[in-house]
Amino acid sequence: MVPQIQTKVVIIGAGLTGLVTAHYLLKRGISVKIIEKNNRPGGVIQTVKEGGFTMEAGPNTGVVSQPEIMELFDDLCGDCAIEIANPEAKKRLIWKNGKWHPLPSGLIQAIKTPLFSFGDKISILGEPFRKKGTNPDETIADLVLRRMGRSYLNYAVDPFISGIYAGDPTRLVTRFALPKLYQLEQKYGSFIGGAMKKGSEPKDERTKRATKEVFSAKGGLQNLIKALVKSIGEENILLNCSRVVVSPDHGFYDIDFLKNGNPVRLTSDKVISTTGGKEVEALFPFVDQQQLAAIGQLEYAKIVQVALGYQEWKGIDINAFGGLIPSKENRKILGVLFPSSFFTERAPKGGALLSVFLGGIKNGDYYSYTDTEIQSLVEEEIGEMLQIKGIKADIIRIFRYQYAIPQYYKSTEQRLQAIDYIRNNYPGLILAGNISDGIGMGDRIRQGRNIADSIIKE
Ligand SMILES: Cc1cc2nc3c(=O)[nH]c(=O)nc-3n(C[C@H](O)[C@H](O)[C@H](O)COP(=O)(O)OP(=O)(O)OC[C@H]3O[C@@H](n4cnc5c(N)ncnc54)[C@H](O)[C@@H]3O)c2cc1C
Repeated sequence: MVPQIQTKVVIIGAGLTGLVTAHYLLKRGISVKIIEKNNRPGGVIQTVKEGGFTMEAGPNTGVVSQPEIMELFDDLCGDCAIEIANPEAKKRLIWKNGKWHPLPSGLIQAIKTPLFSFGDKISILGEPFRKKGTNPDETIADLVLRRMGRSYLNYAVDPFISGIYAGDPTRLVTRFALPKLYQLEQKYGSFIGGAMKKGSEPKDERTKRATKEVFSAKGGLQNLIKALVKSIGEENILLNCSRVVVSPDHGFYDIDFLKNGNPVRLTSDKVISTTGGKEVEALFPFVDQQQLAAIGQLEYAKIVQVALGYQEWKGIDINAFGGLIPSKENRKILGVLFPSSFFTERAPKGGALLSVFLGGIKNGDYYSYTDTEIQSLVEEEIGEMLQIKGIKADIIRIFRYQYAIPQYYKSTEQRLQAIDYIRNNYPGLILAGNISDGIGMGDRIRQGRNIADSIIKE
């Protein structure tokens, strides 16, 4: 006899989205079970502590872009605390012609910087007077060329897009990939004027909690996951689940899977999937396959993240957030973060922790390189860029992601339509996760909260 468990909601995937959704549902007394294929919760979030270093295998930092982030930490208070990055190490560096240059943060710096051409610096003065775009599918590159100029695209926006999407600005569509920027132009007609007007608009207390500050959890993001797991209850998270298949059953859903190799069936009113786009076709064989194909086609950037720990730092001054390398510079790495400069207790005193990123949509082949090849490539690049040639890191850890960051291209329109179609035509079935609503941790927290709120309202 297959064990059968009845619950109100089943969530597939115990990453940040699934855990946040479950946390808010359970808080309101709605029964939830999470099904996870891995042997641990957290999805791509994982903190590794070794040799005095606190290394993130997945995301290192988030931006406090939504009030929901602060509210979640308030809610988990006592079990986990937010850590805001040290503002003294907020400088972003850009690599150009063999040197790091700070990304300008004020007018004087913007005039002096060698990152942008003289012509573009003059022409940016006309940005507030340029007409707003009319093509809703305009790419980020086209938008920036139209409003700001090529050197801004090459030495500000391209590296910024590498840092967020590991993506290509000539393919990412602004409306989907950077909706706030798109709205800035659409609503106010200009980036510069819009940012100024928006900054002076009155904000309510809740909106003020979105600050653009950089956050993690004290002691690493794993502590956020631990606190969520504690709130949800380990008994509600089923790990090591394979071959998950959902089928409709007289107004309910049956969710069949193997747990540690043994068959189990859950029955629920609602099913929320938070897996990536590649999983949905197999999970929901009864759903219109054409709709699922529109989701399954989502392209992902592959990422290799390399954590390097030095007991004693002998390179250049790294009192900054990190450095990004524009595609035009043709280097092998996308960028490097300096977590020990902006968060506490990430490296032993006097030491340093670096987090180097490789791959992305333009250089996905690095994903298949051996550890030895990756190590020597990173040591060579970092050795030159941070002036530590010949000095070996005391610890090196390599983390690979085949489906790291979804790319919000023009096809996002069809994918969003398919997600809506499924929600409207299969009552109780919700396809969530970073296939929609943004890729950052803040977006994931907000989506989980919104889904929970909509179910609670019902
Ligand atoms: C290397 C890397 C760096 C990043 N850096 C940043 C950053 O600096 N800042 C930021 O804000 N964001 C960053 N992100 C993005 C952010 O981490 C993610 O958007 C977010 O953590 C995703 O959470 P999620 O729950 O939606 O998905 P996931 O974390 O992918 O969780 C999905 C879960 O579903 C499970 N699953 C999948 N298929 C099945 C199945 N068939 N059955 C059961 N379970 C299944 C998976 O095992 C996983 O646990 C980064 C992501 C990566 C990969």
